[in-house]
Amino acid sequence: MSHLRERHKLNERCRTRLARNLRIDKLQLPFFLNYYTRYTDRSIPWLTFFLRIRKGLPEEGGLGILGIPSLRGMLPFQPMLWWTMIKASEDDFELGTDELLAGIQEWVEIETPSSDAAAVNRLVSLVEQQAQLAGAVTVRHSGASGFADLLLVATPGDSQNHGVLVLSHLDTVHPVGTLKNGLPIHREGDRAFGPGIYDMKGGAFIAFAALCHLIRHGLPRKLPVRHLFVPDEEVGSPTSRAMIESEARRAKYVLVTEPARDGGKIVTSRSGGTAEFKLHIAGRAAHSLHPRSGRSAIKELARQILDLEAMNDYDAGLHVNVGIVNGGTSTGIIPDSAVAEIGLSSPSSSAAEQAIQLIKSIKSYDPDVTVQIETQLGNRPGYDRTPAIDGLFAHAHGLAAELGFELIGVNGPIGGDANFAAQYAPTLDGMGPDGEGAHSLSEQIVISSLVPRARLLLNLFRTLG
Ligand SMILES: [Zn+2]
Repeated sequence: MSHLRERHKLNERCRTRLARNLRIDKLQLPFFLNYYTRYTDRSIPWLTFFLRIRKGLPEEGGLGILGIPSLRGMLPFQPMLWWTMIKASEDDFELGTDELLAGIQEWVEIETPSSDAAAVNRLVSLVEQQAQLAGAVTVRHSGASGFADLLLVATPGDSQNHGVLVLSHLDTVHPVGTLKNGLPIHREGDRAFGPGIYDMKGGAFIAFAALCHLIRHGLPRKLPVRHLFVPDEEVGSPTSRAMIESEARRAKYVLVTEPARDGGKIVTSRSGGTAEFKLHIAGRAAHSLHPRSGRSAIKELARQILDLEAMNDYDAGLHVNVGIVNGGTSTGIIPDSAVAEIGLSSPSSSAAEQAIQLIKSIKSYDPDVTVQIETQLGNRPGYDRTPAIDGLFAHAHGLAAELGFELIGVNGPIGGDANFAAQYAPTLDGMGPDGEGAHSLSEQIVISSLVPRARLLLNLFRTLG
């Protein structure tokens, strides 16, 4: 209970901070003490308050107000320009562990299965509101085909110049209710758990926080930064692909905030392929006591499922999964229809093509039954490592070293939005926090990886040119 209250307080604090452009930054005495004793002729204690204006002034400047209690009462408050040599305290705001964790939890608390547009839109609205409070430009595009809206968050004042594209999805594979039943938000040591916290609200949020930080502080950068949030990645981005591609076309670099792999590695290629199919089977209905005139679609489906599962070659990285089946209407009727939904992922584009051809050529066992394969999602294009990706990776590697960690690049086996973007601009994937358990009831992030990863993203935004 006290933990919950604590978290609530933290959320509350973040919100009020977001809502303000002004905040009291520090109490500072030494410099002005000497200055004012010349006028007052007394050495008495007094206080100096500074309000730091977050917008419109350089990082390390602000306005100060000085009050001097003297024996004759308080001297009038005097406004003054404050310019300090002290490094602006970036660490105590927005990109600290507590703030990042509280922000991620707030996003995880809004459950967002891809198929529930209203639920996903609740989170889209929160992100839009937070972005606007930070001073970002937002463009929201209405959803299509029953999916939620797309949201673009960008640095203000930019033209159509090539920039840095950040790609995130706000949907998860977890149905509404998972928070209550199955995977409540909780913390164990350096791990935080919750539905979608690893894939990928953790990564989406730290990139968003870094972008808001960049905008709010007016930090120097070489390129515009645009952060695209999509609502349907977990089902193959059917309504987002076009926008992902058009944004990638005007990007100089793409950073995808899918989770880090195997102890913090990022992804520099995804040379595999993925596809999804629906297998429709049509038989003939009959009373179950007159079976000879019927043709069971479910019996046919059962045989086909075994064939499909037999295609799996886990060692080679070829995965065929019959994930959903439906069919029949009553135990008293020979079923005349059945449907299966199949997911495919493979380690190379050529292996994917081969498997796709095999699935498309499925024939029925029973000559009186028809089978029909519907391609739900075509093969995602390959995302292969190129010299341009090598250059981008080397730059990120150098920035990570400055922050004190080693960045390692790997080939990611499963397709994602990076596959769409990488055709147009050098792309790094897996920029999110470290963790494990994607798509399971043990989704978790490593809390200590949040700050270094957020800093790496911020430094990429500042230095990519
Ligand atoms: Zn994901």
